[in-house]
Amino acid sequence: MSRLDPRRWALWSLPGGVLAYVVTVQVLTYAVLLATALATPISTWSWTWLGVLVVASVIHLEAAQGIERIRELAAEGTPYTHLQSVWFFAGVLLLPVPLQAVLIAVSFTHEWYRVFRRRAVAHRKLFSACTVLLATAGATLVLAAFYPAVDPGQPLVATLGGPRGVVALVLAGLIYRLVNYALVVGAIIATNPDKPAHQALGPASDQLLIAAAIGLGYAVTVVMVHQPWTAPLLLVTILALHLGLLLPQFRAAARTDGKTGLVSAQWWHDQASAELERARRLAGPVGVLMLDLDRFKRINDRFGHPAGDDVLRAVADAIRRAVRGTDLVGRWGGEEFAVLLPGVDTTGAAAAAERIRAMVSVLRVTTRDHTGQEVVVADLTLSVGAGAFPTTAATVADVLLAVDAALYEAKNSGRDQVRLAGVGAA
Ligand code: GH3
Ligand code: MG
Ligand code: MG
Repeated sequence: MSRLDPRRWALWSLPGGVLAYVVTVQVLTYAVLLATALATPISTWSWTWLGVLVVASVIHLEAAQGIERIRELAAEGTPYTHLQSVWFFAGVLLLPVPLQAVLIAVSFTHEWYRVFRRRAVAHRKLFSACTVLLATAGATLVLAAFYPAVDPGQPLVATLGGPRGVVALVLAGLIYRLVNYALVVGAIIATNPDKPAHQALGPASDQLLIAAAIGLGYAVTVVMVHQPWTAPLLLVTILALHLGLLLPQFRAAARTDGKTGLVSAQWWHDQASAELERARRLAGPVGVLMLDLDRFKRINDRFGHPAGDDVLRAVADAIRRAVRGTDLVGRWGGEEFAVLLPGVDTTGAAAAAERIRAMVSVLRVTTRDHTGQEVVVADLTLSVGAGAFPTTAATVADVLLAVDAALYEAKNSGRDQVRLAGVGAA
């Protein structure tokens, strides 16, 4: 219960200026809400539209909550782009402001339990919900300015028409985005004064996502008013787009090693298994290399870990340049790499390993040591174990074991050399 005690809210720990900003935005939101609640008559139809939009937004978030958890985490320090904007902007076109507030409140509460819980600070999400309501209220104001004489019991979307309607819609969309975005970016900049302000803007592609959400929001309202029975089809379309477009993006992120840009060990292993299956069917070979930089610890010890990281990146690039585009280079562990060479037999694998060794031996990496002094790291060597399916072994696990053993032979024989698996000390 103690966390609910107002005296213990994290809100009060904000610096004075930020606190004033956040409280102002909230007070403004409640003022808008109070004023519109007193002034706007709410028709029965509005309640029906509200019900439909609430159900649609809940279904949407339920389907996308896994992805949204990852997106929200990735957006740390930048505005999190709510794809629920589809329903919020539909709310602008169908609902009076007080019911827009109900829709936003339900959606954010649902999101709190399914996406943010235990990871987010409650007052930030409350602030975020307030900026969305100010945004929908701003957009509603734009539309009301274009169509002042509309019967308040009618959904606004029914009166949009002709070029005037287009202009009103575009302006409303812009205001919706601008109000929400400016308020959130302002809060992020105020909370992180030590970070460069442009970071708070987030990726430019997010603006496209929101433009799409606003456009879909409009489409939803047109369908709901004129072809209500086909509205569920549109919901399914939106879900399919959301999941279909974002899932592959996150799979790509999961398969990349952040430091070197190579594929991750897990992804390399999965691809190697698939490639061996295919090779088994086609009765072709697949070359496999395991590489380990020699005495890499000394480079860290001498120049520092950031310099070591630069060397790792340079070596990763060199390996990639030494093999074909269709070969798969992965980061196996710290300073260990794995290369998959489809269609390449043991002889070819050993030749590729020699090529890589030669390429790395002439690398000159310009970086900075721990004192900030510019240094050139050169004379890098590596040890390689090479092998190929099916000559070396018949399964991924066995090929890897044999190639790894060959790598250790190379190390034990003085490093800076290639060993072919299963050939002994020849
Ligand atoms: P060996 O010739 O026997 O392979 O010697 P080594 O020093 O390369 O091997 P060892 O396994 O003893 O040490 C590997 C070193 O790689 C230890 C660690 O500091 C370094 N390393 C691992 N991952 C990273 C990384 O991501 N960045 C940096 N800078 N260093 C790393
Ligand atoms: Mg190692
Ligand atoms: Mg090593």
